[in-house]
Amino acid sequence: MLLNKSEFLFNRAQQFIPGGVNSPARAFKSVGGIPVFFKKAKGSIITDEDGNEFIDYVGSWGPMILGHAYPPVVKAVQDASFNSTSFGAPTEIEIQMAELVQRMVPNIEKVRMVNSGTEACMSAVRVARGYTGKEKIIKFEGNYHGHGDAFLIKAGSGALTLGQPSSPGVTKGTAKDTLNADYNDLTSVEKLLKKNKDNVAAIILEPVAGNMGCIPPEPGFLEGLRKLCDEHETVLIFDEVMTGFRLARGGAQERFDVWADLVTFGKIIGGGLPVGAFGGKEEIMNVVAPVGPVYQAGTLSGNPLAMSAGLAQLGALEKHPEIYVELEEKTEYLQKRLRLLLYEHEIDFDMHRVGSMVSIFFTSESVKDFKTANTTDQEFFRVFFHEMLKRGIYLPPSPFESWFLGNSLTYEMLDKTIAAADEALGVTKLKVNE
Ligand SMILES: *Cc1c(COP(=O)(O)O)cnc(C)c1O
Repeated sequence: MLLNKSEFLFNRAQQFIPGGVNSPARAFKSVGGIPVFFKKAKGSIITDEDGNEFIDYVGSWGPMILGHAYPPVVKAVQDASFNSTSFGAPTEIEIQMAELVQRMVPNIEKVRMVNSGTEACMSAVRVARGYTGKEKIIKFEGNYHGHGDAFLIKAGSGALTLGQPSSPGVTKGTAKDTLNADYNDLTSVEKLLKKNKDNVAAIILEPVAGNMGCIPPEPGFLEGLRKLCDEHETVLIFDEVMTGFRLARGGAQERFDVWADLVTFGKIIGGGLPVGAFGGKEEIMNVVAPVGPVYQAGTLSGNPLAMSAGLAQLGALEKHPEIYVELEEKTEYLQKRLRLLLYEHEIDFDMHRVGSMVSIFFTSESVKDFKTANTTDQEFFRVFFHEMLKRGIYLPPSPFESWFLGNSLTYEMLDKTIAAADEALGVTKLKVNE
């Protein structure tokens, strides 16, 4: 398949935009080749600038849980835009959004809207620090919480893909307040809490890791963190930017029945528009300005187009909980068949699925944290990715990203994907062993 126009556009983009992209995970760095430039999409079919069609397993990295150009979202945005695209003053739709979030995630007593997942996580940590008067935070190696300085120390996602989990430009002063523990390892957390007694404001984590591939929490891990936070008067922050409204209406909290003090959202909450949010216990949220002294603000926060899109998408998810059942059945269908193929082709792998998030790790290790995730055969993934792309399947262009399924996927599309994977795995095995 020729990607002529993408190649042309990528060359042009690189002259004016760093690396030709506005976010590094898009640049195909870890798979090589030319990133595909897209023109339009409907449901789970995305069309590139050359008119090639692909079945989409990226879903804009999560937001498109109901498919692209979902009619109620499109209509909501159109309708809202006629009444102005921004006021910078309160609107009723912001209340509707806050009420809806609380109905779906009952421990969100108060919520503040922001413009991205990054902003949500940065703000949640500031709030936790303001509330506790403590300075340090504990995060987990390979988890990603956006590009706030405090998080760019052993981070996942694009940072991991580029092989620079820690970024230049983050000062030593900032880095010293971020402590890294090992995912699924409570002992590593206990050690840090002991060593930094009475100075850990928050533990922040992805309750299901999705930015070093999909890695579920082992039984007892989330419960153990909850208990440690209670003992140490530390704020437990679940970063549900990826998992929120995806793993259940109430996200990972509902799915695992472990409830955090603060929760961050992004991706699905905006229906594809730039939205993030953080919320939780009223007592903690009351430190946020203008009620309390912890400053947090945004000219476009609660923007009417963004709120309309989010409200339309979350509204559909609230009204139709069967979507979660259907989506899980589809993902399981795909997972089971891929698993069989991998056995048939005698390829070493580990595979994780939680709800509609799924990842293949090409490794003989059992993957449960950053270290084991890193044993995945990146060269194998690189070849596999392009063999799938050639066959019309658009996977996340990195071995360290979860696939995100949307409910617009049909069983016919899943079967097509499985047939493509059968061929692609065979070809990849030959090519890599050459
Ligand atoms: C995507 C993501 C973020 C960052 O959100 P942006 O909207 O890209 O700033 C934070 N945390 C997690 C878990 C994410 O997956």
